[in-house]
Amino acid sequence: MARLSDPVTILKGVGPTRAKQFANLNIFTLRDLICHFPRGYEDRTRLVPIEKLEVDVPACFRAMVMNTPRTSHVHKGLDITKVQVADHTARLSLTFFNNRYAAEQLQYGREYIFYGAVTGDFIGYNMTNPVFEELNSQPVTTRRVLPIYPLTAGLTNSALLKAVRQALAICDPPAEILPPEVREAYGILPASRAYTAIHEPASMEEAEQAKKRLVFEEFFVFSAGLSLMRAARAEKKAAPYTNLDLRPFRAALPFTLTGAQERAIGEILEDFRRGAPMNRLIQGDVGSGKTMVAAAAIYCAAGNHKQSALMAPTEILAEQHFGSLRNLLEPLGIPVALLTGSMTPKEKRTVRERIASGEVQAVIGTHALLTEATQFNDLGLVIADEQHRFGVGQRSRLSAKGDDPHLLVMSATPIPRTLALLMYGDLDVSVLDELPPGREAVDTFLVGESYRPRINAFIRRQVEEGHQCFVVCPAVEENEELGVKAATAWAETLQKTVFPDLRVALLHGQMKGAEKEAAMASFARGEADVLVATTVIEVGVDVPNATLMVIEDADRFGLSQLHQLRGRVGRGKAKSYCILTTHNRNPETLQRLKALCKTTDGFKIAEEDLKLRGPGDFFGSRQSGLPAFRVADLSFDLATLKQAQAASAHWIDANGTSDTPEAAALRERIGELFARSEGTMN
Ligand code: ADP
Ligand code: MG
Repeated sequence: MARLSDPVTILKGVGPTRAKQFANLNIFTLRDLICHFPRGYEDRTRLVPIEKLEVDVPACFRAMVMNTPRTSHVHKGLDITKVQVADHTARLSLTFFNNRYAAEQLQYGREYIFYGAVTGDFIGYNMTNPVFEELNSQPVTTRRVLPIYPLTAGLTNSALLKAVRQALAICDPPAEILPPEVREAYGILPASRAYTAIHEPASMEEAEQAKKRLVFEEFFVFSAGLSLMRAARAEKKAAPYTNLDLRPFRAALPFTLTGAQERAIGEILEDFRRGAPMNRLIQGDVGSGKTMVAAAAIYCAAGNHKQSALMAPTEILAEQHFGSLRNLLEPLGIPVALLTGSMTPKEKRTVRERIASGEVQAVIGTHALLTEATQFNDLGLVIADEQHRFGVGQRSRLSAKGDDPHLLVMSATPIPRTLALLMYGDLDVSVLDELPPGREAVDTFLVGESYRPRINAFIRRQVEEGHQCFVVCPAVEENEELGVKAATAWAETLQKTVFPDLRVALLHGQMKGAEKEAAMASFARGEADVLVATTVIEVGVDVPNATLMVIEDADRFGLSQLHQLRGRVGRGKAKSYCILTTHNRNPETLQRLKALCKTTDGFKIAEEDLKLRGPGDFFGSRQSGLPAFRVADLSFDLATLKQAQAASAHWIDANGTSDTPEAAALRERIGELFARSEGTMN
């Protein structure tokens, strides 16, 4: 027997070339291969009489070859083989292009199973390049439910299936981690069956069952992981903060805190007072003032001689936080520093020395904060901004730099309460459900291409009034995604032909960190009128003078993402607008976009988004900070998640710390799942 951890190269037929193709799919071990699940299935189980074949609907049928296949050499590189087949209902002509195998295998007078789609015209029905197998052969491509795999260049579906089949034959599938009582309660297949059935289901129903089991399993592991983290934290102690006086901080603010900000800060102070490490999520719509809540927490930590670290997902955002926090906190006697990847080694070294010595009390940074080289003197508070972009693993790595520091995560993605409770089961939640006074709603319009002249005129008008505009495109370069506006080309068009007299700037994710920084900073200083960008500007960026957000091909974005983008305007005193353009005519899509025009309530939008697209899309691919689920994306369904969560909580309560093999296997799987989530940052 082979082991799951053995490399795929131990399989017959897997040499260096194949191994490389597998590597493209992140398949290195037998376990990876067995966990490379189909993205769908083709039901080829049913045999259809020829007479009943429907045009363009692929199906299986059993037929006899009625003549000897005739191959004609049409020209160099094109051979056409024709053959007649029949069953008791009808005759059908088959055509094969460059298929010597068919020409040689199909024998006059013998029966085969074919799979293909008929095409019809008034001359008669025909079928091109069907696959076929001998009547008594083992079903490989016909008479079965065929799994359809995510593939890579050079690797065919059947080659992959063959490798998987071989792997399943020589090693046991991943261990059973779901307790029998859980499987029974939810009617779930055992692991031994599920891992085979997901690849080679006997029926579509069984494929469904296998998928359900594997989705359930992932959610179970995920929830169990959160439960274990919560349990581990409950045991920890932190020295209570004794100085909770925020009066000087309040006095330094240029405005009064909102009721929601006060409430959130009160909850944080309560955590500080209690003396167990805080683990809190601040959820607040764009512009609700999360930064000030973070500032209050930093101020309080400093008052208790503790250092704080604020981690932002982009350099742009880190710089901006650094700017506003330094202005606020340094006059209050709290030294603030910035640490980002694009600083020179010398600059980084200097900052790190000041952090290690304890001279710097608050450090704002990007992932650079996570590296080994950054050591703190006494880290008491870790804040992760726009938390949905950080993996659970990254959060905990930063925490490990202190002695169980308090943790505050801030998210501008309003997550529907149901989902938040499930996803962030390990966090306490404070909600900022109130915007600072005097904010006017951003007027939002949905328009088609015929409005282009008016959009352009509107942009010009905003600029003439001294304001700035964002134009967001779904892609960076042309042909990256067919038919959508690309930032680079569109910026050029706007500058050269539409607004030759205005200053058009460009910002996208493929630019170097420093370039992005420079473009954004320059726009914030008012040095450009129109900033054409991709979604890199989505998170947190603050340019109060920007009053217009044009989003091209808005149907390409999720509602919550559009809401985030819209939140980039309406941050100053002037009335702000958002224009969504689309070519899409799908009524559902239009309805979705219209919902955004009607409300500016992020939570309502999030509920809508969740309803329409399901949580997988809702979080956006590879941005969620959630573990990289392998199957759950296929059918992310809340009901299963809830069941799995209930089951895992129950099980952890009973067995969490035990040393049974099941508990050990589960812990191993938790580690594996969360390790995979490390790659989700952008
Ligand atoms: P977000 O929650 O999106 O991170 P920010 O913290 O960036 O929001 O705040 C948005 C803007 O609102 C900033 O310019 C900030 O100075 C301002 N702001 C924050 N709190 C208040 C308040 N209580 N009153 C007025 N303006 C505020
Ligand atoms: Mg923010």
